[in-house]
Amino acid sequence: MRVLILGGTTEASGLAHLLAADRRFETTLSLAGRTSNPRTQPVRTRIGGFGGADAMAAWLRQEAIEAAIDATHPYADQISSNAVAACGRHAIPLATIMRPAWRPGPGDQWLTVTNAEAAAEALGPEPRRVFLSLGRLELGAFASSPHHHYLARTVDPPEGIVLPANIRLIFQRGPFDEQAETALLKHERIDALVSKNSGGAATYPKIAAARQLGIPVVMIARPHKSHGHVVHNAEAAAGWLEQRLAHRIVPGSARGV
Ligand code: NAP
Repeated sequence: MRVLILGGTTEASGLAHLLAADRRFETTLSLAGRTSNPRTQPVRTRIGGFGGADAMAAWLRQEAIEAAIDATHPYADQISSNAVAACGRHAIPLATIMRPAWRPGPGDQWLTVTNAEAAAEALGPEPRRVFLSLGRLELGAFASSPHHHYLARTVDPPEGIVLPANIRLIFQRGPFDEQAETALLKHERIDALVSKNSGGAATYPKIAAARQLGIPVVMIARPHKSHGHVVHNAEAAAGWLEQRLAHRIVPGSARGV
């Protein structure tokens, strides 16, 4: 079965590893090409946008893709909308890995806002020491609140983006651990954290560290994400593919295999 994984996440890599070991699947992993040095993957990988939903639909047909898994990040809403449209065009079954969101617990001080601009506004008029744990493309929103001192952590350096004047950058890729996150927040005397609600374990330690230190979190809410059949992790996506395989009709044969 020829499978497309839309990736750029831990779940996509996990699924690629599960399928690479299974000779019943011929898997292609698609990455947007946002990071300069993506991790090596055990399956065929294509990098870069398709050129919109129509072009993705043409690519699916050209590659004779039989099932697709959208394993993109919870905040990557455009590619998910394109995947629903493109798969729908050729009646290609689509499953979407929806990573459960984090929920505030006792001791958490979250203020939920709709986007990075609203997060900058929510930091208020008094100068604060702010940790921005966001993608590099979102940092520009904070240029309009130049009175804060920012520490931003991204995977790659931001290029072509007007940054706030008072910002320091660190380049790191998760997973992170709670002890190190607590030490970082303390050492930098951070008094506000801005984060997306990414879900998952890899980047949660900063949230736990903020709770432990009594630091408020400005949480950017998730966008609406179009989806196919919903699963919650890579293993469930592999199980869904197994079911598709069981019901698959091989052209020219009288029954499924
Ligand atoms: P997006 O806004 O949903 O997509 C913008 C465009 O990027 C899409 O229309 C598509 O271009 C291209 N694209 C996105 N994901 C792709 C993929 N897996 N393969 C091929 N093309 C893709 O996406 P985004 O928020 O910029 O995220 C880009 C990538 O980074 C995704 O793979 C996502 O999983 C990953 N990521 C995003 C975040 C985040 O916070 N947004 C965090 C961690 C990882 P065309 O229209 O030209 O096909």
